Amino acid sequence: MQMKKNKIPFKEISKIYKECPVCEKEVNLSYGEAIETLNVRGEAINVITQIYHCPMGDHFFHSPEDEETKFQDAYKEYKKRKGLLQSEEILQIREQYGLTQKSLAALLGWGDVTLSRYETGAIQDDAHNLSLLWIRDFDGFKKLFELRENALAPALAKDIADKIVAIEKEKTSIEISIEQEKSISMATKIFSMSKQTLILPVASGTTISLYYLNHADNSQGSSNNDLALAA
Ligand SMILES: [Zn+2]
Repeated sequence: MQMKKNKIPFKEISKIYKECPVCEKEVNLSYGEAIETLNVRGEAINVITQIYHCPMGDHFFHSPEDEETKFQDAYKEYKKRKGLLQSEEILQIREQYGLTQKSLAALLGWGDVTLSRYETGAIQDDAHNLSLLWIRDFDGFKKLFELRENALAPALAKDIADKIVAIEKEKTSIEISIEQEKSISMATKIFSMSKQTLILPVASGTTISLYYLNHADNSQGSSNNDLALAA
């Protein structure tokens, strides 16, 4: 992509001697940053891009990589503005179920390459975005499978059914360990509360033993642990 200098503010970062693809000659090029406004589906989006300036013809051009990055950055910003899932979030959804792009696309009733395009930066349409949001939640994913199971090849249906069983098993064991942790912390709380209630009502001048409450103390006899409250 070639641009006229006066259209973009340019900040030089370095100089490099290499061929200008427009002039087809080796020249001392400037490499730096510029702000460009891109039109993404009718939305004007400003992005900071890396760009070359050729002093010979006074024109700008991108390397193919910088050109790609520029559009990816603009698409990211567009998705942010429109509340669409980002590529890496779409990838995470698929990975949390351990499915290939082809399997998940089949489950959703999409074409083979659709997910691959979304995972590498293309902008998904609103309906596809809603489907992805729906199956991000495991219950939605399970519901979709129940609805679509018969439309899938038997081997694929079995593969996904196995994944669902495995995920449910894992979820159950996590829930059990959370419950166990809760009861342990509840027991600890009750124990420390009982410590306080045992100590507080003692009248002044009375000696009580804290020996049995102090598990960490290994000393013989309880004299050091006796609490004497002076009158
Ligand atoms: Zn040039």
